[in-house]
Amino acid sequence: MVKCMYKRWVSALIKKAETNCPYEICNYLKINVITSNLGSLNGYYIQSNGVGFIYINNSLDKYAQRAICAHELGHAVLHTNLNIRFMSECTLFSKNKFEYQANLFGAYLTLTGIEERLSDYNGFTKHEIAAIEYVPVEYVELYFNNFLLREHNTPPI
Ligand SMILES: [Zn+2]
Repeated sequence: MVKCMYKRWVSALIKKAETNCPYEICNYLKINVITSNLGSLNGYYIQSNGVGFIYINNSLDKYAQRAICAHELGHAVLHTNLNIRFMSECTLFSKNKFEYQANLFGAYLTLTGIEERLSDYNGFTKHEIAAIEYVPVEYVELYFNNFLLREHNTPPI
């Protein structure tokens, strides 16, 4: 199943890089992360002469920047052979297939291991969980809808 692939890829990356921090994984993969004024864009990923660059809008708060970094890292890992320009129109949570895949990657990366903390979240809303985990609420939704095993008691969404 496709979702198992995300788990495997992300888990392998976390194991190799020994962290689930998207910035540290970028460092491990030798992807350059650059914050800059990108106007209305949140961020994008490009490859130039075999070197990867993630650009992140510096007007976002640091948690949004981290979420964007995780999303762009998803492009870098999942879409590295797609030499197309859709990245430059990158916005979080668009319905584009590649954007959705990058969001799944970002959600699984940033919330990896949340199963072990779920009992702490009994009675919490997805917005509260997102705030505590410092991720966008969409990541919490994606994670709970796609990666939680059924036997877990999922918090109310
Ligand atoms: Zn994107």
